[in-house]
Amino acid sequence: MSQNFDIIIVGGGAGGFFTAINIAEKNPKLKIAILERGKEVLTKVRISGGGRCNVTHACFEPNELVKFYPRGEKELRGPFHQFCSGDTIEWFEKHGVELKIEDDGRMFPVSNSSQTIIDCFTSATKKLGIQVLTGQSVQSIYKSETSEGNFWKIETQNEQYICEKLVLATGSNPKMWETLQEFGHSIVSPVPSLFTFNIKDPRIKELPGVSAQVSVKVKDTKLTSAGPLLVTHWGMSGPAILKLSAWGARTLFEKNYQFTIFVNWLNDMDAEDAEVILKELKQEHSKKAVSKKSPFEFPNRLWESLVLASGISEETKWADLSKMQLQNLSNQLTNGQFQVNGKSTFKEEFVTAGGIDLKEINFKTMESKMHPNLFFAGEIVNIDAITGGFNFQNAWTSGFIVANSI
Ligand SMILES: Cc1cc2nc3c(=O)[nH]c(=O)nc-3n(C[C@H](O)[C@H](O)[C@H](O)COP(=O)(O)OP(=O)(O)OC[C@H]3O[C@@H](n4cnc5c(N)ncnc54)[C@H](O)[C@@H]3O)c2cc1C
Repeated sequence: MSQNFDIIIVGGGAGGFFTAINIAEKNPKLKIAILERGKEVLTKVRISGGGRCNVTHACFEPNELVKFYPRGEKELRGPFHQFCSGDTIEWFEKHGVELKIEDDGRMFPVSNSSQTIIDCFTSATKKLGIQVLTGQSVQSIYKSETSEGNFWKIETQNEQYICEKLVLATGSNPKMWETLQEFGHSIVSPVPSLFTFNIKDPRIKELPGVSAQVSVKVKDTKLTSAGPLLVTHWGMSGPAILKLSAWGARTLFEKNYQFTIFVNWLNDMDAEDAEVILKELKQEHSKKAVSKKSPFEFPNRLWESLVLASGISEETKWADLSKMQLQNLSNQLTNGQFQVNGKSTFKEEFVTAGGIDLKEINFKTMESKMHPNLFFAGEIVNIDAITGGFNFQNAWTSGFIVANSI
């Protein structure tokens, strides 16, 4: 026996819940179910943002917001004009969740707990009569076209469902992408995004926890980024590195995560300008030991390490620096070469680049261009962003649009 619904949403994550709630609020008469393969729903929301859930980002201009999406920049422009980060704040406020902005623009629930978001969604689904069916892993999807109309038949391991409209919000799930390929959709092959770099290098070995404002380039590519860099026990992390990992997700995958980066610890200053400053310092501080105090806005420990790497001993005084040592130091400061050998997971947030080819989706409705009444929300499509709340914003925006068009 099949269970019949007007709308079935496959995937009990951020995209699935947001879609279901918005559909039910707009049309309470519809019979809606969320099918979730796991025992629990919203598991990624729970662990997101280090358990605090970085819900969105305080960037309220659609044309600015799209710039944070390495994949989806062009396509999200229209959707963000329909539902942007400001709408997210308002939506959550209306549903009893107040958000706060942190210094770097990330927005979290005031409670600092992702449980607040989970409670908001689960109580809304209860109130609206949405059926949340867990332990339902969708195995097959069939499209039926009959004289009575078109409908979708969905099979899980132990149940059958029938619905008129089908929303897929299964996140980065290879099995579902395979099913969609059988329906004629193209899938951009998945690769990880948002990761940190593994680097074993004596210059940073003793510096975990040290951070600096830098610019970074990947050798032999056009990939560059700027922002804070954090030295970790295994290499380098922080916004400057995570941005490179997102924009370079495919290129770095193709390099098998073996590549060289150039770090400019003085941000955008070039080696010549750095040398001029170093010469001035040589004059001013001639009797002082070079390694003792960082003349730049980064920690002494980092300065000392770069000084030693330039072939300058701990006790060498500014006055005694040779021309070669000055050049070495300006090079270390502005063009430090580091070999990356592999990547590590960034625990606060990670996503997959890849998914349903954007050309095959109508972004006014989030409906498949090939199959009417088939909709997509969230990470299942080939859209992903850098860290900062942008990935959830994509889930909210696409879910809202699906709901609006249904
Ligand atoms: C550790 C971590 C932290 C993160 N933190 C943040 C953050 O703070 N801010 C931010 O913006 N982004 C964050 N992200 C990214 C964000 O979680 C995702 O972009 C977002 O969850 C995507 O939502 P979704 O609904 O598309 O997919 P998901 O959240 O992955 O949900 C998909 C659901 O579908 C279910 N499913 C899959 N296949 C089937 C099937 N065949 N049948 C039934 N159910 C199925 C899955 O079990 C899952 O519950 C984080 C990601 C990770 C991994």
